[in-house]
Amino acid sequence: MSGEARGALPVLRERGQHEVFCGLTGIVWLHRKIQDAFFLVVGSRTCAHLLQSAAGVMIFAEPRFATAILDERDLAGLADANDELDRVVERLIARRPDIKMLFLVSSCPSEVIKLDLSRAAARLNERLRSGVRVLSYSGSGIETTFTQGEDACLAALAPLLPREESRSLLVVGSLPDVVEDQFARIFGELGVAVRFFPARRSDALPPVGPGTAYLLAQPFLSATAQALEKRGARRLAAPFPFGVEGTRGWIEAAARWAGVSAERVEAAVAPAERRARAALEPARERLEGKTIFFFPDSQLEVPLARFLSRELGMKLVEVGTPFLHQEHLATELALLPGGVRLSEGQDVERQLDRCRAARPDLAVCGLGLANPLEREGITTKWSIELVFSPVHGYEQAGDLANLFARPLVRAGRLSV
Ligand code: SF4
Repeated sequence: MSGEARGALPVLRERGQHEVFCGLTGIVWLHRKIQDAFFLVVGSRTCAHLLQSAAGVMIFAEPRFATAILDERDLAGLADANDELDRVVERLIARRPDIKMLFLVSSCPSEVIKLDLSRAAARLNERLRSGVRVLSYSGSGIETTFTQGEDACLAALAPLLPREESRSLLVVGSLPDVVEDQFARIFGELGVAVRFFPARRSDALPPVGPGTAYLLAQPFLSATAQALEKRGARRLAAPFPFGVEGTRGWIEAAARWAGVSAERVEAAVAPAERRARAALEPARERLEGKTIFFFPDSQLEVPLARFLSRELGMKLVEVGTPFLHQEHLATELALLPGGVRLSEGQDVERQLDRCRAARPDLAVCGLGLANPLEREGITTKWSIELVFSPVHGYEQAGDLANLFARPLVRAGRLSV
């Protein structure tokens, strides 16, 4: 553990035991977003169970994710897992003509036996020649956070984007369709053409090149950002579009790049901002003055802390995040109140001690810590819900605030 000053705010860096959920989780929202893609995890029964429980109770006529289970013979190196994988993929593609893009997703077990899925993808692309593009990425979970699955997936996709030379704007990060449509409408009113990555269909991949400016919609896309920059794109510095202030700053960054006047921005966003402020009011009454402690989990912690402190009046006890990307978070960090305790990484026992000592009104954490904390009388919010729910933009600001207000209301009822 070490304390060090980075920029204006000191950061407590911890490297100890940590509680994480692996990147396979991202498949739950990615398969909804890319509507002709299939995600084939090459893993164990544990991976299959994780995916199933993260996806909740879903019944599909035509599921778009599955686990090819490595059995003991594969793990002992007694069978050729590559041959079996080829057979599974061929059967899948023959049965499902709707699939146009296939992601082979590696897991801890497939990585331990050194099954190289990038080579498998290249081999299958060569062999199948069927109009299905096969790609691979890692969803394994030993040293990752659950949102890194999306980052790895989009970084694998970035080299495949068509090239273009002209100026263009790209929004990067998987957003629910309803939110994407709202943003597209606002950009439309500003007269700014925008594309989204990932696209909803694999035959509509957005082009990228030296004229591309991109806006990150999610703070956990560092590998994707690097892959896009390799293609010549450049990032627009902005806060993340959570709450009124974040959404305004994010849209303004695009407007500045496109040369749109402040008056036109004001006219385009004013009605939505009024609605969002009104929607925040009831939650503000419940949350103002309450203390909150973030355990590192989703990588959304810094932007959410900024939103909760500046728009809802919450007091930040500690803002823990798995990785603190100084560049991508610079605008957010500048908006945090002075004196806030920021931590990066985790030493879970020490952090639990700090949380117990502070006794916050609300702790935001992964599923593994929620039950023990609740048992100790600390109200919790599962951070994974923040990724599974539509929370970006003006129209979702009230829902986002309510995700934090609801556990406090429930705890209040239980203690009556
Ligand atoms: S942590 Fe590893 S073994 Fe466990 S579900 Fe994730 S990929 Fe599978």
